[in-house]
Formats: sequence, C-alpha cells, structure tokens
Amino acid sequence: MSDVERDLRRKIRDIWPNFAVADAAAWDTDPLVSSLIPAARRPKAIMPSARSVIVLWVPVSATILHTAPSIYYREHYKTLNTLLDITAQRIATLLDDRGYDSAYVPRDGYHGIAGLRKDPSSFFSHRHAAYLAGLGTFGISNVLLTETHGPRVRLTSIITSAELPAGKPLEKDLCIKCMKCVRECPANALSGDAYPGGLDKMLCVERSGELAGRGISPCGRCITVCPVGKKVTPPSDDFVEAVRRYEI
Ligand code: SF4
Ligand code: SF4
Repeated sequence: MSDVERDLRRKIRDIWPNFAVADAAAWDTDPLVSSLIPAARRPKAIMPSARSVIVLWVPVSATILHTAPSIYYREHYKTLNTLLDITAQRIATLLDDRGYDSAYVPRDGYHGIAGLRKDPSSFFSHRHAAYLAGLGTFGISNVLLTETHGPRVRLTSIITSAELPAGKPLEKDLCIKCMKCVRECPANALSGDAYPGGLDKMLCVERSGELAGRGISPCGRCITVCPVGKKVTPPSDDFVEAVRRYEI
C-alpha cells in the first residue's frame, strides 16, 4: 500500500471505522454480480473515472429489531439511514477536497413503496458492493449476511476515482440454510431456494406497503430470526407487545 493510500484510509477511518473497499472493475468481472447487475447500474456508469467503491456499514440494534414491525424499529431504521448518508457525504467531501472524483449513493435509491411497486430494485445495490468488498455473502433471505452481525447491518457506498486496496468476495458461505427466515416470513415471499432465486420481491413490497399504511414499516422479520452473527437476549414479551400497540 502506498503512503497516499495509507493516509487516505487513515483519514476515512477517523470519520468512520466500519468500512471496506470494492474494486470498481469487479462489477464487470465477478461472475455473480456481472450476471445480476445491469451495466447502467454499475459504478463506472455512474462515474466513468471510478476506481473504488467504499462501503460503510452500521449494525442494526438486535434488541430494537426484536420488536419489528414497530414504531421503535421504524425510527431506528430511519436514524441509521440518516447517519450513513451524512457520514458517506462527509467522506465523499474529504476525497473530493483531495482532488478525487467522489459521490456517495444514498442509502435508499428508490421512491418509497410506490417506487418499489414500479421497480423493486434501487438504482445502485449496496448489498452487491458489500459482497464484492468481502463483507459477507447472500442468504436464503436474499439479504447480505455478515460474520459479526449476520443480516443486521445497514450499508451505503461512496464511488470514487481514488485507488484504494480492495477486498474480494468471501469464499465461505455464511448462510447455514436453517430456513428460519422462510418459516418466519408473514408474506410467504421466501421460497427457500438459494440466492438469487428465493425472494418474490413483489410479495415483500406489498407487505411493506401494508405496514407503511400502519406507520410501522419496514418488516424485518427475516433478519430478526437469522442465527448468523452476534446473539442478544431479546426484550421481554410484555415489552414487545406494549410497543407493538403503537401504530396508526
Ligand atoms: S422483509 Fe418481511 S415480507 Fe420481506 S422477505 Fe423478510 S420477512 Fe418476508
Ligand atoms: S435464517 Fe437461516 S436460511 Fe435464512 S439467511 Fe439466515 S442462516 Fe440462511
């Protein structure tokens, strides 16, 4: 690693320690990602000078998640998205000030439930960036699983012309195929088939729409029950029942 790269990594880490880097060229060469992500939604389509994609992650509180769907989890989810967006913008500005083309991609690249009904994919997939950076692998639930927190992470990305040492996809599949996510899904949106074939996105979107109408989206059940990653003792049943009374 050159002195310039080491200095950039240190400055990024000073802002946010939880990050990994994917090579922007990997979208064209990785067999899984190149088969799933259209050319128009790859980093070099967004920024032709792109060399790296910096992926930031933040853990979701497993304690709060146990109440999902709930106003408690909804507010937590919004806070994490805002935190990621602001942090990613700060890092993009840091790189921009040093002469690198840089743009962060907002946490959610779609337009609410109405937008998801038209196209249930965002214009840029942070999950696939995280996969290419070596942060995790895809589970039966269609979600990226990480070693430390399983599927309980939120992600965002910064595309930059800075060249940084990149990770590579993990060789070990983190999903243990327990099928807890499949059994838990209230919309029957998960078939149990291996990624990428196991999720009926429109059933999941319709479930989110129904919860949004009650003020308690997102759903979060499949990521609550996944046994991969750090374990926590859940809140009491009485508390979960009490917090779930708060809905429109
Ligand atoms: S978020 Fe809810 S509806 Fe969607 S797949 Fe997971 S459990 Fe099913
Ligand atoms: S709940 Fe089990 S099957 Fe589903 S993603 Fe997690 S480990 Fe895989």
